[in-house]
Amino acid sequence: MAELRGVGIGLGVAQGPVARMAEPLPAPSDAPSERTLEEETTRVREAVGVVARELEQRGALAGGAAQDVLEAQAMMAEDPSLETEIDARLAQGRTAEWAVYDAFASFRDTLTAMGGYLGERAADLDDVAQRVIARLRGVPAPGVPDPGHPFVLVAKDLAPADTALLDLDKVLALITTEGGPTSHTAILAREKSIVAVVGAVGAKGLLEGQTVIVDAASGVVTTEPTAEELDRAQNRAAARASAASAPITDGALADGTKVPLLANLGNPDGAVDAVALGAEGVGLFRTEFLFLSSSQAPTIEQQRVSYEKLLAAFPGQKVVVRVLDAGADKPLPFLNDAHEENPALGLRGIRALRASEDILREQLTALAEADAATRANGGGADLWVMAPMVATVEETEYFVTLARDYGVKTAGVMVEVPSSALLADRVLKYADFASIGTNDLTQYTLAADRLLGSVASFQDPWHPAVLRLIREVGAAGQSLGKPVGICGEAAADPLLAVVLVGLGATTLSMAPTALADVRATLLQHSLEDARRIAEAALAADDAATARTAAQEAATR
Ligand code: PEP
Ligand code: MG
Repeated sequence: MAELRGVGIGLGVAQGPVARMAEPLPAPSDAPSERTLEEETTRVREAVGVVARELEQRGALAGGAAQDVLEAQAMMAEDPSLETEIDARLAQGRTAEWAVYDAFASFRDTLTAMGGYLGERAADLDDVAQRVIARLRGVPAPGVPDPGHPFVLVAKDLAPADTALLDLDKVLALITTEGGPTSHTAILAREKSIVAVVGAVGAKGLLEGQTVIVDAASGVVTTEPTAEELDRAQNRAAARASAASAPITDGALADGTKVPLLANLGNPDGAVDAVALGAEGVGLFRTEFLFLSSSQAPTIEQQRVSYEKLLAAFPGQKVVVRVLDAGADKPLPFLNDAHEENPALGLRGIRALRASEDILREQLTALAEADAATRANGGGADLWVMAPMVATVEETEYFVTLARDYGVKTAGVMVEVPSSALLADRVLKYADFASIGTNDLTQYTLAADRLLGSVASFQDPWHPAVLRLIREVGAAGQSLGKPVGICGEAAADPLLAVVLVGLGATTLSMAPTALADVRATLLQHSLEDARRIAEAALAADDAATARTAAQEAATR
């Protein structure tokens, strides 16, 4: 069996024929043409005509707003003044490719200079030029392909402009050769629930039309699938689809043990979808969105409005808000603008807040005000507040004491640094709860920058070293009677979710799109099973073996 490995995004599996995203075309040379003027003129007319007809046909198929855009592009291709410009360059003895390239470029510059609506059409003109040049060269046009049937898109990485054009009815799965778990493709795939494997270097060799299985749960692309493998993948996809349409119940194991399933949210606007997908509250509200676009901290009032909206969406339910986690992957100049060689090991999370304590105090004020206001309206939530990147017992005591001063009733910490996992019994003497951020905990345990594609394979929370740290926190929570939640990506992996519960996690928080899969998988195992499956994973030497051992233990 031939397979390629990358980093899987999401949990799905899909199969289909490959369609490759063509590379952007290199600029043509301006060397004199070896053809006659007549030959070059005929080539240009033919290529322009074919491209214009293609654009019109696609427009007719697409309908709606897309049809208007594509028809406008077809008209651009055949614009008479553009033709005059192209002809002038051909008359100078240049190749058809260069004449098209240069004439379109000068038109594009004119449009850009006009600004406004016309300026925005400049990119459309570039696209037309690329299509005509591709036709002249006899190669596929760059950009997202349209083979006329559903396909598995293989690309280097997707630019935001490409993703905007993706037809999600046609793209069965995505494979990229570059990019890590935080690349554009990964973000898009997560947001839209597209099956994806990123950073699969070996995908460069995949051929157009070749059938592949893309398994995001394991990060594997099977390149020569057997009929049996295709059947198995099909059954898994069907099981996922039925989990998605299964009735929404509270998170629980097969023996009835409750495991509340919560949502990770980055914006109060996500609350409606989370509730519709059965979130029993919020396990991680990332407050950075309020801060990331501004050059200074938002006011207490601005923050209060957002927090009120969030709390009002979950009446009577738990909502865990994380105070600002700035630094490293979430840079915020007004909190820390020092150049740091290793920002992930620098002034970030609670360290940065402590250095600008007024910002932390304002955030706690806004949270307390929002809590009071929503309660006064009779629709309050159960607000818990936690600090990110806590590394020491002293930082725990600092944050919990400060939060209590502002009236926060339930104050806790995120366990994202191995030191606080190892001393979880002491951390939890002060904190009301712990929430394990497996993304950072994995980064710090394996010493692998979570933003670097080159070390993405280390960013695997199945690693037994990470699991052992989680067990430490779970055991401390159990002996002190304090809740231990999980809010990193790990909780969204259904089998790993079972392992985490076996290690002592009491709640799981994840992107809302993952809730259905996790809910369905938890229901298949008792607490005793979960502990046994966790033991099997803990006994492994590495992440891959831990995953396989857990799979075997789960089917036993
Ligand atoms: C984590 O580190 O696992 C986490 C949930 O926080 P973030 O991804 O926002 O750093
Ligand atoms: Mg984190």
